[in-house]
Amino acid sequence: MKFITFITLCLLLMSCSSQEKPIENTMSEKVLYEELTPTEFRERLAEAPVAYLPLGTIEWHGEHLPLGSDGLQSKEFFIMLAREAGGIVYPMLFMGPDRKKIINEEELYGMDIYMGEEASKNAYPSQKLDGSSYWISQEDFKAMMEAILKQVSRSGFKVLVAHGHGPSTGFVRDHTEEWEEKYGLKILHCWGYRDKEGMGIMVDHAAMNETSLVMALRPELVKMEYLPADTSKWPVGVGGKDPRLWASPEKGNEILAIQKERMVKLIVETLAGVR
Ligand SMILES: [Zn+2]
Repeated sequence: MKFITFITLCLLLMSCSSQEKPIENTMSEKVLYEELTPTEFRERLAEAPVAYLPLGTIEWHGEHLPLGSDGLQSKEFFIMLAREAGGIVYPMLFMGPDRKKIINEEELYGMDIYMGEEASKNAYPSQKLDGSSYWISQEDFKAMMEAILKQVSRSGFKVLVAHGHGPSTGFVRDHTEEWEEKYGLKILHCWGYRDKEGMGIMVDHAAMNETSLVMALRPELVKMEYLPADTSKWPVGVGGKDPRLWASPEKGNEILAIQKERMVKLIVETLAGVR
């Protein structure tokens, strides 16, 4: 009897583990590099040797968005891609290059510096914006990226998707050919389709596009009430279409659906070319 009970127990356990199989492709599927065990890493790498690198910053994104908006948007979008096309998402970076200017003996970076027409309704005085803590020279960013690429390649990845903060993404795009050859990788970013209509991935600064994306991906982090209610007052350090008038979670989801479909296709095609 005891033996039969043991067999029954084994059969029960086997049926449980076989029932677990379909759960692998649900939204809880693990895709973050830091959460994988070596076995899970090997399985995911064999399935699709794609690495995703969220290019973040800790940077002012208006009074209404979190300081880590760049890394959060790219990380969340990459999680969506990895669950659909396969691959593994690296931890987000928070250092990135940007324009720099010294005004009144203070170093100002990126959106600290107002670049538009003085008479524009969107003008704001150049100033050190609270919370920004990300600037790195292009030379140091290059050294950091090359160290990362060496490890990405060494780990066995064949494709790298890097996207996020504008100047970081632009830097990767401009070095793609050189780095592909040096590190034996295919390198992709997410800019391209419908960017000019504001329907790309991260194509403005804390305005309609980025605000809509954060609203769709991390709604609990958006505080629209922190922006001036009077829309004749332009929000400081925001570049693009007024988020108070144009941003919505629906717009964010529309952008994500269009870009996810496009990127998954591109990644699958790129993978087929390296296998
Ligand atoms: Zn941004």
